Amino acid sequence: MSEFAIAPPPVVALPIAGSSSTFPVRRVYCIGRNYAAHAIEMGHDPDREPPFFFQKNPNNLDPSGVFPYPEKTSDVHHEIEMAVMLHSGGINIPLDDALNHVYGYALSLDMTRRDLQGEQKKMGRPWEIGKAFERSAPVGPIHTVDAVGHLSEGTVELLVDGEQKQVGDLNQMIWKVPEMISYLSDYFELAAGDVILSGTPAGVGPVVAGQTMELRIAGLGSMQVKCT
Ligand code: MN
Repeated sequence: MSEFAIAPPPVVALPIAGSSSTFPVRRVYCIGRNYAAHAIEMGHDPDREPPFFFQKNPNNLDPSGVFPYPEKTSDVHHEIEMAVMLHSGGINIPLDDALNHVYGYALSLDMTRRDLQGEQKKMGRPWEIGKAFERSAPVGPIHTVDAVGHLSEGTVELLVDGEQKQVGDLNQMIWKVPEMISYLSDYFELAAGDVILSGTPAGVGPVVAGQTMELRIAGLGSMQVKCT
């Protein structure tokens, strides 16, 4: 076997609650407008839109609990989301088989340079510059299905410096976790190590350096992320 011409990039490996093992990441899919109240606050009709996805990069996931204020923006927004980690995949996964591919769940943030995303939307361009920047997806430890089961209801909440900004319930997702997996697998081949960020409830807004975000999802505990 030939040697790599350069040192291979490190595998992104996320912590697992109660384990010394880590979860290696392959791809990161993010669903847009998956809670009706958030779709409405962003100016869209939640009833008439099929799901859509964009991607972040594996190494945008960051378990450090620190979010450095990013470059080239003056309006970075928090979006609390439940992350879904897969231990297997495939194509054309039937709905009733979808949850069998889930390894676990984690708290996460889809941090967004809203000003840049807004410019891209206006021009009909891709969202990466607003979404897929360095450390744009703070993530908590993974809670395995073996430990917590499957999560389909319970409060999703984000506080900034102790003040509630976002609140919703997992049961308000327009496209449920099995539907997201099945739908994605019709368009992409899913595989072990894939991560799906499942959308954010209403109340997105800006965060500035010095503030601390607290993420809470029933069944996944809480996590603080400090914006520096
Ligand atoms: Mn999002």
